Amino acid sequence: MDDMTQLLELLEKGVSACHVVMAAEESLKKEGFTPLYMEKEWEIVLGGRYYINHHDTTLVAFTVGENYTQSDSIRLAAAHTDFPCLKIKPNPEVCLKSYGKVNVECYGGGIWNTWLDRPLSIAGRVALKSEDVFAPKMRFVDFNRPLMTIPNLAIHMNREVNKGIELNKQTDMLPIIGCIPTEQKDEKFFLELLAEELQVNKEEILDYELTVYVAEKPFFTGIKEAFISSPRLDNLTSVYALLQGISKGNRRGGINVAALFDHEEIGSRTKQGAASLLLRDILLRIVKNLGGNEKDAESAIYRSMLLSVDVAHALHPNQPGKMDITNQPALNKGFCIKEASGQSYATDCRAVAVVQQICEQENILYQKFVNRSDMPGGSTLGAIASSILPIPTVDMGVPILAMHSARELMGREDIDSLVRFLSAWYML
Ligand SMILES: [Zn+2]
Repeated sequence: MDDMTQLLELLEKGVSACHVVMAAEESLKKEGFTPLYMEKEWEIVLGGRYYINHHDTTLVAFTVGENYTQSDSIRLAAAHTDFPCLKIKPNPEVCLKSYGKVNVECYGGGIWNTWLDRPLSIAGRVALKSEDVFAPKMRFVDFNRPLMTIPNLAIHMNREVNKGIELNKQTDMLPIIGCIPTEQKDEKFFLELLAEELQVNKEEILDYELTVYVAEKPFFTGIKEAFISSPRLDNLTSVYALLQGISKGNRRGGINVAALFDHEEIGSRTKQGAASLLLRDILLRIVKNLGGNEKDAESAIYRSMLLSVDVAHALHPNQPGKMDITNQPALNKGFCIKEASGQSYATDCRAVAVVQQICEQENILYQKFVNRSDMPGGSTLGAIASSILPIPTVDMGVPILAMHSARELMGREDIDSLVRFLSAWYML
C-alpha cells in the first residue's frame, strides 16, 4: 500500500504560503538539511544538504553530490507554495446589524462560489512592534479551527441560482465571523481576536498577511479509495513530490535544487516569485562557494535543466468536449507532461525526451496534456523561470479535476508516479 501519510499531513499543515514553507523546513531538517541565509556568508561542503528560507514564503533547497566537480550539471525542479484564497485587508471589521464580517480580497483565480458555506479559518504572519524599528517582531499564526463562513443566499431569495450566479468580489465574498453587540460595533473585534490568539496586546500589531483557507481535511474517495479529495492539491502535491525527490535522490555528482516559490497564482513577478533573480543568484553562489570562478558559475547554469512542477487538467468525465481531441489525460494514469506551442508551458522536445526516457527506464506512467486549440488554458512559473534561466525546461505535474476549486480531486496513484520520477531525476 502506498504511504500517503506525509502528503495528507502537508495538505493539512500547508494552510498559507508561510505554513507551506514551515512544513517544508521541518521535513528537510529531518532529512539532514541545514539553513543558509542570503544575507550571510556560506560555507558549503561536498555531500552537504542546505536550504534557504526567502522572506518566509519561498524556499530553495539544494544538495551537493559527494563527488561533485566543476564540470557537473545542475538539476532543478520548481513548484509553488501559494494557492487561490482570500486575504484579509487592513481595518477589516465590518458590522451590519448584529453581524460581524471581515473585509477580504480575492487572491488568485479561485472558483469562488465553491468557497460558500465552507468552514473557513485564518493563517499567516503578523508583524509586531519592536525596540529596533528596522526589525519588527514576526509571528506566525494558524487559528486551525472553523472560524468563518460565507453563507449562500437561500434559493427562495434567488430562484435563478441554478442557472449560474456571478459573485461580486467586494460585496458577496465577505465571511461572517460572529455576532457583535451594538455597543461594541466600533471596536476592533478582529484585531482583538488576532491579539488574543497571539497572546499580545492589540496595540502591538502593526500589520499582517493573513490567508483565509478552507478548513476541511483531505479524504480518500471512490471504489478502492482511488481518489483523493482535498483543498490545495494545486500545488502541494508538487511541493510534496519535490521534497520527497530531493531527500531521496542522492546523486553522487552534480547539484540538485528544489525551489518552492510564492506568488505563482498572481503572476510570479515579485521578490518571492519565480521571476525574481533569487534562483539565479543562489546557483551562482553555490558554484562559487565550491571553488568555481564567475565563468564556471555561468557555464554551470547553462548545463542545468529545469522541471516546472504544477498540476495539470485531467479529462472531466461530464465535460469531455473541453479537452483536446487526441490528448486526454485521465486520473490514475500517470503524471502529465504539459506542452503548448505558445510556450505558456515552457517545454521543448529535447527536454521532454529526457523526461520520457527517465520514465521508460524507471517504468513510470506519464501522459501528455495540451490545451484545445480554441481554449487559451493556463500558464505556470515554468515559462517565467526559464526566461531568466534560459535552460531546457519541462512543465509537468499530476492531473487533477476541479483545479482552483475549494476542493480538488486527484488520482491516488499519480502522486506515486511523480515522486518516483523526481527521485530518479535527482538520483540518475
Ligand atoms: Zn498551480
